[in-house]
Amino acid sequence: MKNKDFDINDINKLLIDRGIRPSIQRIKILEYIVKNKNHPTVDMIFNALKGEIPTLSKTTVYNTLNEMVKKDVLLELIIDENAVRYDLYMEPHVHFKCRICGEIYDYDMDCEIFKKKKIKGNLVERYSVNLYGICKNCLNERSKKNGD
Ligand SMILES: [Zn+2]
Ligand SMILES: [Zn+2]
Repeated sequence: MKNKDFDINDINKLLIDRGIRPSIQRIKILEYIVKNKNHPTVDMIFNALKGEIPTLSKTTVYNTLNEMVKKDVLLELIIDENAVRYDLYMEPHVHFKCRICGEIYDYDMDCEIFKKKKIKGNLVERYSVNLYGICKNCLNERSKKNGD
């Protein structure tokens, strides 16, 4: 998610702009995604917020996320075989997933394809580019272990 320029105070406005009533639960869920930049799953969000919002259920989190996907506030990220992750719907960027630690990194890329609104007459509405490999931290760990 490319949200380093995104102000927490803009959350209210973003929801209203997209026709979503900014309830406390919705604000908290979106705030969690913006603050943590961790492409969370439903479970991650639920576990992080259930202490703070005792009335919260996993179904509510799921339904809230779904609604925000429909209104282009969030993107569903299919990068994990285990669970859908959620990302802020902003400028298209590339995701890199480390197969060792599972961390997902965001990269801005000057991809020609991201600039195209139409490809051979087809209208592009969403972009999803996923790269898989070993992150630099894990590569460092590995070379330490191997002693080189
Ligand atoms: Zn992202
Ligand atoms: Zn890693």
